[in-house]
Amino acid sequence: MAKIEFDGVWKRYADGTEAVKDLSLTIEDEEFVILVGPSGCGKSTALRMVAGLETISEGKLIIGDRVVNDLSPGERDIAMVFQSYALYPHMSVADNMAFSLKMAKVPKDDIEQRVKKAADMLGLTEYLHRKPKALSGGQRQRVAMGRAIVRSPQAYLMDEPLSNLDAKLRVQMRAEIAGLQNRLGVTTLYVTHDQIEAMTMGDRVAVLKRGELQQVASPQDLYEHPDNLFVAGFIGSPAMNLGCGVIEDHDGRLFVSFGEHAVVRLADAALDHYPQVTEYVGREVAVGMRPEHFFPADDSVPEENVMKQRDVHLVELLGSEVLLHFGTEAKPVITEDLREALDDAEAFAELEQAAASGRQQFVARLEPYGAPKTGQTVDLAFKTEHMHFFDLETGRALR
Ligand code: ADP
Repeated sequence: MAKIEFDGVWKRYADGTEAVKDLSLTIEDEEFVILVGPSGCGKSTALRMVAGLETISEGKLIIGDRVVNDLSPGERDIAMVFQSYALYPHMSVADNMAFSLKMAKVPKDDIEQRVKKAADMLGLTEYLHRKPKALSGGQRQRVAMGRAIVRSPQAYLMDEPLSNLDAKLRVQMRAEIAGLQNRLGVTTLYVTHDQIEAMTMGDRVAVLKRGELQQVASPQDLYEHPDNLFVAGFIGSPAMNLGCGVIEDHDGRLFVSFGEHAVVRLADAALDHYPQVTEYVGREVAVGMRPEHFFPADDSVPEENVMKQRDVHLVELLGSEVLLHFGTEAKPVITEDLREALDDAEAFAELEQAAASGRQQFVARLEPYGAPKTGQTVDLAFKTEHMHFFDLETGRALR
């Protein structure tokens, strides 16, 4: 087992596309790192450079303590699991799993033992004689995993391995792969565009945007302390609410104003995470609010913390919670970063429309009991110690 290290790695394709820019990232020995970002951000290119399927334009790629830039895929001792599984249709499950070992001239007894052990681990023992076409999608996925496991390689590389499975199976396989990786303790780099996969599977998550690394952190850290607007907008579902607000100082107490009737006092703790907010008094910033930090205001909440008389446009009942879409005067934050983070032209067009009309909607995640109904108005408060603040121009968190 070994660590994988990108040291200032660039990928320039022949047509001039810079798919990966100056990437420095270390996946520690036994670590499970997820590389995530919108489609086209360079994830697969980065992974393929590790596998040796793509040349490296500049920088060093290190596996263990060897620089592998000029080594062929076969010399790198890593196993890759693809989206398409790439199983041999005419071979049985056992032969599929044994194939690379046979090629490597591993003794027959040894092969049998390794296949048996992997099959046992993956719940495939009773299917060993079957051909891939007689398996379910999830079972085929497991065979693809099995092929990687039997080799005991230095590292695993996985390229969107779950994207061909239906939603329910994906949830199950997510947990299986994470558990397996943990038991085997093999260094793993896993690529996905699905931020929920990223948040639920890995030890750390590396977020990529247009070939550039944005932030590397544990899932919880990424969620609670995004370094910039892109990460804030990309990580979280439903997404973080973002609006333009002006920081105001009223007799030494700080407020954020989203408009004449929506001025909210900032808890002192809000500044603990974002100390630079004090330097932005009188200026507009991007304010981020996660849906779960809104709550219905009752009489115990000081008036200065309440956003009054919000119009409820839509209530989504999800059983254990409701998502309340409500009107806000807060101007939308519109930057290139967010266009990229949304990864969805329609959602961005909606945002631009909201900007043109000066109106946008926020989403609050509330308890279902006694939740307001569509068409009602509601007083909402926000736990301002959980507010996020970003520079509107650079997108940088105001830490
Ligand atoms: P992702 O895996 O994040 O979707 P890719 O690594 O596949 O992204 O692609 C990153 C960028 O490089 C994209 O802009 C893509 O169009 C470009 N690209 C990928 N392969 C090639 C190639 N062979 N030649 C030129 N450009 C490429």
